[in-house]
Amino acid sequence: MCIFCSIVKGDIPNYTVYEDDKVLAFLDVNPTSVGHTLVIPKTHYSSLLTCDPEDLAYLMKVAQQLGNQLKEKLGAEGMNILSNAGAVAGQSVEHFHVHLIPRYKDDQVKIEFAQIEKPNFTELLEKIK
Ligand code: 5GP
Ligand code: ZN
Repeated sequence: MCIFCSIVKGDIPNYTVYEDDKVLAFLDVNPTSVGHTLVIPKTHYSSLLTCDPEDLAYLMKVAQQLGNQLKEKLGAEGMNILSNAGAVAGQSVEHFHVHLIPRYKDDQVKIEFAQIEKPNFTELLEKIK
């Protein structure tokens, strides 16, 4: 069984921030900032990309509420809300989760986008569409 399913089941302890019948939110065991929280569906989906759209919509609604709650209660000035999909994208737990990463002035969080050479945007768009 996957580690987050074990958390949902109650076999692995967690610091629960929020819970209902569909969603669980708990503190990340290796936080990158104060209040770093993971929001997960109780149903197992490998990533956001394979999540049932209705479950996804509900989870994002909860994530928004919790993001605002964390901001208010912890005095964060901003928030990174992100989800890694696939090992190549940095996903280490294959159970869909959204990171809520409260941001504070002068914190040490590093989320960087290196820049690639500009593509032929027209050709690229043709490929994508
Ligand atoms: P990913 O790298 O897949 O986007 O994020 C996985 C996150 O889950 C990491 O930030 C990691 O610290 C967290 N994590 C992994 N195992 C556990 C655990 O057993 N308990 C908690 N609370 N967080 C975990
Ligand atoms: Zn799972």
